[in-house]
Amino acid sequence: MKPQLENLVQTPIPTKHGEFILHYYSNTIDDKEHVALVKGDVAGKEHVPVRIHSECFTGDVLGSRRCDCGEQLDMALQIIDKAGFGILIYLRQEGRGIGLLKKLQAYNLQDQGMDTVDANIHLGHLADEREYNIAALMLENLNVKSIELITNNPKKIEELKKLGINVAGRIPVESVAHDDNVGYLKTKAKKMAHMLFESKKD
Ligand SMILES: [Zn+2]
Repeated sequence: MKPQLENLVQTPIPTKHGEFILHYYSNTIDDKEHVALVKGDVAGKEHVPVRIHSECFTGDVLGSRRCDCGEQLDMALQIIDKAGFGILIYLRQEGRGIGLLKKLQAYNLQDQGMDTVDANIHLGHLADEREYNIAALMLENLNVKSIELITNNPKKIEELKKLGINVAGRIPVESVAHDDNVGYLKTKAKKMAHMLFESKKD
């Protein structure tokens, strides 16, 4: 059976990037609280800027410098604000889907020399267990015609296309590398085909 979503509540949230409407969804796949932060009029629109952000407690909330999630979240909201319309979908799949406990254990393995991909595999997980079917259903519910995905991750674009989303383009979101995250960013580029460090390439 096709999973079902229900848009239960919409409420305005003023942010430093302007006002958004927060949509709360319940779903028949898991018991998590997935939400979409919507700016402007997106229904029936083409080329809607969309960020699909997977929850990262340490990066989003604590501002951890082990990853670039918090920065990407902020940059995405900035891009949407500038465009005057768009959607940030916030999926509750922590640590690329492996959960907070495993992610923290993986951090300790990384401190012993493994990279983020090998550490996940060592803990019995895939490098990336994220799923986008709920995001696709949200975009359907919000009735967007086509999107510009704010991402560096080509796999995400492929997955969404497979789920029937019309991805008309990509908006890059490149955060600044620093000592604490450069290894992580390089692994994303090398092992997960993320389009990073492109501006630094000749
Ligand atoms: Zn993160």
